[in-house]
Amino acid sequence: MSTIFQKIIDREIPAKIVFEDDKCLAFHDVNPQAPTHVLLIPKQPVESIDALTDADAALLGHMWLVVRDLARQLGLAEDGYRVVVNCGADGGQTVDHLHFHLLGGRSLTWPPG
Ligand code: 5GP
Repeated sequence: MSTIFQKIIDREIPAKIVFEDDKCLAFHDVNPQAPTHVLLIPKQPVESIDALTDADAALLGHMWLVVRDLARQLGLAEDGYRVVVNCGADGGQTVDHLHFHLLGGRSLTWPPG
């Protein structure tokens, strides 16, 4: 079944896209939890961290470098930011397509709820 994020990749539904390359796509979260809240997703349909295989190592390394660059471009790097990946029901994952939340623009509290 096609997830909402697959529909965004396929341009079947709109999103405010901030970055795209052949491996991944980044867009603003529709329900932001911080002044800047961007989601970074792989274009290949990986369900979650738990569904990753050893063959995904290069993809993940690439995505972390995209996070680094996005944080700089969005003006978050100087003050800091948080990257969150929810996995499964207890992790709070609601969309079954791997995604990194990039959150910043305010001081974030810890621990999470
Ligand atoms: P999760 O809870 O799975 O870690 O995060 C899913 C995120 O996707 C949530 O922050 C939610 O606001 C966001 N989201 C859900 N549907 C859409 C959508 O149609 N467009 C965008 N841009 N974000 C979405």
